[in-house]
Amino acid sequence: MVELIRAKGCNVYFVIINGKRYIVDTGLPGNEKRIAEVVRECDGIILTHSHFDHMGSAYSISKILKSKVYAHPEEFEYLKGVKKHEYKGLIGAFARFYESVKKPKYLEEVESVEELKDLEIIHTPGHTAGSISILVDDSLICGDLVRCSIFGSNPTLSSKNFNWNNEEYRRSLKKVLKVEFEKIYPGHGRVIRREEFENLLKRVF
Ligand SMILES: [Zn+2]
Ligand SMILES: [Zn+2]
Repeated sequence: MVELIRAKGCNVYFVIINGKRYIVDTGLPGNEKRIAEVVRECDGIILTHSHFDHMGSAYSISKILKSKVYAHPEEFEYLKGVKKHEYKGLIGAFARFYESVKKPKYLEEVESVEELKDLEIIHTPGHTAGSISILVDDSLICGDLVRCSIFGSNPTLSSKNFNWNNEEYRRSLKKVLKVEFEKIYPGHGRVIRREEFENLLKRVF
């Protein structure tokens, strides 16, 4: 089961699989109360990647719910504030400014997603080095791999200004195409049907 929790910054998903309860992404700082109220008990907080609009409330939720935070090891240094992401262009400069205003709290400890045996984690690098997608039944939670921000419009790719490596990113799009899913739950915007994703890739490749 995948359920959307209303939050600021990005889509936050509540996942129940094999009796385990997970939160996927946390949005900007300040979402902790709302998310903890809905979830109450949690077996882990999973971050699709370490951008501040996805990890911003991870620290506080982990304290409230006393749960571990999981991510791909390539994201650890960013989540701990050791490394900083580079954003390009004017929109990148705006994002940098916004991040400095929002002041996300960095994590002290992060566990590897490889420890999560109940879930099918797919490494989909490109947007960031350790970006992951998660397959839950016929649903793929994809982080910022693709998005569909405006209702009724077509899904779009992640902006090059925020991508760590565009070649890797394109490889990950093709990799995901081989995964069996019906719906994509993106980090931003509405659910994307498989057919819409396939059409997007036909336009790209
Ligand atoms: Zn991102
Ligand atoms: Zn995002």
